[in-house]
Parts: sequence; C-alpha cells; structure tokens
Amino acid sequence: MTIETALRKIVVRPAILERNFKNLQKFVGAGTVVMAMVKGDAYGHGMVEAAQAFARGGCTVFGVVDTVEAVTLRENGVAGKIFVTMGFDPEESGQFVKYDLTPVIYSLQAAQALNDVAKQAGTTIKVHVKVDTGMTRLGIMPGELPAFLEKIESLKNLRAAGIMSHFPESDNPRSEGTKKAIAVFSSLNEQSLKSGQTVNHIANSGAALHFPEARFGMVRAGIALYGYHPAGREATKVMAATHSLLPAMEFKTVVLQVKEVEKGVGVSYGHTFVTGGRTRLATIPVGYENGFSRSLSNRGRVLIHRQYAPIRGRICMNMCMVDVTGIAGVKAGDEVVVMGRQGQKEISADNIADTVNTISYEILCMLGKNNKKEYRLG
Ligand SMILES: *Cc1c(COP(=O)(O)O)cnc(C)c1O
Repeated sequence: MTIETALRKIVVRPAILERNFKNLQKFVGAGTVVMAMVKGDAYGHGMVEAAQAFARGGCTVFGVVDTVEAVTLRENGVAGKIFVTMGFDPEESGQFVKYDLTPVIYSLQAAQALNDVAKQAGTTIKVHVKVDTGMTRLGIMPGELPAFLEKIESLKNLRAAGIMSHFPESDNPRSEGTKKAIAVFSSLNEQSLKSGQTVNHIANSGAALHFPEARFGMVRAGIALYGYHPAGREATKVMAATHSLLPAMEFKTVVLQVKEVEKGVGVSYGHTFVTGGRTRLATIPVGYENGFSRSLSNRGRVLIHRQYAPIRGRICMNMCMVDVTGIAGVKAGDEVVVMGRQGQKEISADNIADTVNTISYEILCMLGKNNKKEYRLG
C-alpha cells in the first residue's frame, strides 16, 4: 500500500453494486434488460471493477461513451454487449469488429465507415440508431428516422438492431416533457419493430424507476445502480427505503495534525475564516486536487469521532482544516469520513452536492477519479 492510500482513500464495496443491480433488475422485471452505464469510470467507482460487480449480479449489457472505455472493458475480460453511446471517429470503426462492440450512430458517415470495416472483415455489425426526442443533444430527429433506417438497410454489412433516445427530465415523476417523449418514442418503437429493430431503449435511472411505460425492452441505468437518485437527497432516501439501492462509495482520510489557537487567528489562504474564540483545528490531507471542491471552503463538513466537524477557511490543493473544538480527544491519525458514514451520522454525495449546488453524479466522479480506490469485501 502506498503512502497516499494510507492518507486518503476511496472505499468501494462491490458487493453493494452487485446487490443494487439485482434489486433494480428485480424491480423492472425479468422481461426488461438492464444496461449498466459504466461511463465516467463507473461514476468514479472504477469502470472495470464496477462492471465485474454488475456482471456477478447478472448484468450482460454495459454502456460507455467511447471506444477507449469499451476496449478497456473488453481487454479486462468483461463479456456481454458493450454499447458505445456517444459516437466515434470513423478511424476507430475497426474497433467495433475487433472487440465486438455495439455502436450507436446518428450520422450516415458513421454508418458508411462501419459498413466498410464490416465488409472488409466479412461480417455484419448491429447498430443502434440514436433519435433526439427532446434532449436536444445527440441523435437524428424523429421525422428523419424512416429515411435513415432505409439508408442503413441499403448497407449490406450493417443491421439496425434498435433505436434509442434519452430523457432530459425523467427524474421528475410528474414531468410532462417525459410523457411527451414517451409518446414520440412509442410511435417510433412501433414503426421500428415492423422493420426489424427489436431492442429499443430510452429509459435512464429516473425513467426506469418512475415511468414503467418507458422501459420497452431495455433500460440504461447509471446513478441508481450507484445508490443515488437523479433528483437528489430526498428522492435518494425514498429509493433506498423502497428499492434497497444503496451507495457503494466512501471517502476516508485521517487527521494529520491538531492545533489549538486563540481568538482572532486567521485560517488558511486569504484568512477567510478568523477564529471567534479559542479553537481546536484538525488539518486533513484532502483538497481540491483530490476532487474536494474549493467551493466547499467554509461550507462543507466532515465526520470525526462520529460528529460533524465544519471546514474552516479555504480548501487548499491537498489539505483543509476542520473545527474540532467541540469534539473531545481528536488526535493525529484519527479516522475522518469525508463522504460516508460514521456511527449514526452520514455525509452523502447528495449532501456534498447540495452544499456546492451540483448533483451527486459530479461528486462521485470527482472524488472517485481523483483518489486511490480500495475495494472492500462485505
Ligand atoms: C449516463 C447515461 C444514462 C444513465 O443515466 P442515469 O441518470 O445515471 O441513470 C443513460 N443513457 C445515456 C445515453 C447516458 O449517457
């Protein structure tokens, strides 16, 4: 173990990821395939390890954004289907044949490039066509689908196996936009089933949880599999209680030093915090380079001895100071939980996200990707 992992580490529990997959699969039913989205290094949990955990839970379909991620999964022995959802450079087309990857396309140039490599290899590539039903991001417009599918049919080494789309606001169970998008996708689904596209998919975590009519043959779940609800803290609590989808990531560190200072002493760069009385401060080795946003300066908190210790002053690159005046006996080497549980108290990715006005997704990515990870059994 390196010194860095001893000072601070992300602790991931693959058994929870495995259980989350099983629980979500049970909820959507055996007739619906669950694609596990493992982009973004599996939302910071470690792409290969998370994919393997989901596979142990029965997962056979994985989603990433690019071919680099997809090839990494394959080279690490992940079997099953791997969807590349964000597109690719035509020069990467050969990877789809070599590694048996499933492309998502939204341009005829991409279709042509794939057809060329498939022809060369004497094979057929099954593609999924991305349609924009209101996200206004990637995809052809719904009205363009029939002509697009016809073009693909004319390419002898391609087969359109499915159509897909993406929801912008399905985390809100009452969103009208989601109902409209479902209506549009349903009619595309019917058209496409007639012309042979059999695996159509639009649902993300929010839709998988709240819009059963949006499940079609497959859902693409990300955040729910990592134990968080796309709508944030309150919804995450409900989700944990009703579906047993639980967070699998914690961020732990230790106290480097404790010091007691007088009233009127400035703390950290810029002295944005000045002590209001005699104060005991613990310095911990976690800063913005470690994904702990500088926006948490004077706002965030950590857990020490099962109590909340507020951050004082600015967060530095690799350190910050927390107030332990009210917490007895804190000394160098004591455990600090930056995200996770200590006793009955918890700091979740939703809590941190609320403090800096973002979403759990970003917190998980930032902490997970910028720190050494330890995979813990049980
Ligand atoms: C990330 C992603 C998902 C999963 O979204 P969650 O809200 O995390 O469930 C689904 N589909 C696509 C295309 C994505 O990029």
